Amino acid sequence: MTYRYTPWWLPAALIAALLLCAVLFTILVVRTPARASFEQHNSDQAPTTVYRWRMVTTWPKKFPGLGLAPENFAEQLRRVSNGRIQITVYGANEIVPAMGVFDAVSSGSVEMGHGAAYYWKGKIPASSFFTSVPFGMNATEFNGWLHYGGGLALWREIYAPFNLVPFAGGNTGVQMGGWFNREIKSLADFKGLKMRIPGYAGEIFTRAGGTAVNIPGGELFTALQSGVIDATEWVGPYNDRAFGFQQIAKYYYYPGWQEPGPGLEFVINKKIYDNLSEDLKAMIEITARAINQDMQDEYTARNRTALKELVEHHKVDVRPFPAEVLSALKKFSYEIYDEMAAKDATFAKVWSSYREFMESAAAYHKISEQYYYETR
Ligand code: CA
Repeated sequence: MTYRYTPWWLPAALIAALLLCAVLFTILVVRTPARASFEQHNSDQAPTTVYRWRMVTTWPKKFPGLGLAPENFAEQLRRVSNGRIQITVYGANEIVPAMGVFDAVSSGSVEMGHGAAYYWKGKIPASSFFTSVPFGMNATEFNGWLHYGGGLALWREIYAPFNLVPFAGGNTGVQMGGWFNREIKSLADFKGLKMRIPGYAGEIFTRAGGTAVNIPGGELFTALQSGVIDATEWVGPYNDRAFGFQQIAKYYYYPGWQEPGPGLEFVINKKIYDNLSEDLKAMIEITARAINQDMQDEYTARNRTALKELVEHHKVDVRPFPAEVLSALKKFSYEIYDEMAAKDATFAKVWSSYREFMESAAAYHKISEQYYYETR
């Protein structure tokens, strides 16, 4: 019997060689592509996603004040994102009707919109609180409620089922009561008065004896001039002067009880927004916040000079509504909110939050802002 001699160390050496091969294979073949893709990700050649969005609006293209907010937003976001989000703005009816903005963004047929939440009152009665309600908050209080009083969270909760993410998008401040061709001495003077006054304010005006009609901004001058309407509200001196109401109306009444600080809105399709990186979300949030404040600043500056010109140059008769008229309108406003709250749970929830904030803010503003104005 013969034996073939096998050294004792040979199996151990074979195992060690196999292990070495496995380690080298892992390092050279498996690890290498991963390192390469990591480097590519960090190199200058890495592809950057550029979002090209369309923003539809409820305003005529570049309409003074209101229509400049979407243009400014697009321009500033392009700058801060270094071109990663590029937005083309479309005026009302260019690709979507003015009142089709909500649905177009909700369905995702366009990425973004700018308008006013109270235009969607027919779909969501509580949406009016996210623009303005008669005898409601002014711009400062409204922004405080949205950003520090739970208002924005409520707004997002209510818009989420519609696949929309809202942001505050500008504020005109307290508006004017409107242009009248009849003198208002008492509530009885509203009887048979035809006024363009939309939203809940229209319902309140009707309850006060008037006839509320809704006419698009572009047709207001002709309607007032031809006597189709006896009165109209629009915005304030800056925008009203541009429409030329001073040429055809006798009286310019204040205050704008119907819109004490209307806030506008940016809306973004929720699926599109949710898929953005965190840095882009932050850029959108901060840009919207800046544009929101910017509009208020612009109105403060321009209303000042426009009113001066209306009074000094055009000799406009500017006068306050009688106290009796304002207190009746206020009573009707609260009646309508309570009636709405009784039949719509969402309306009740938002009205309760809104009212609590407004009343507590007013308690402080009475001894701060208000008293200061009176003493200055
Ligand atoms: Ca208005």
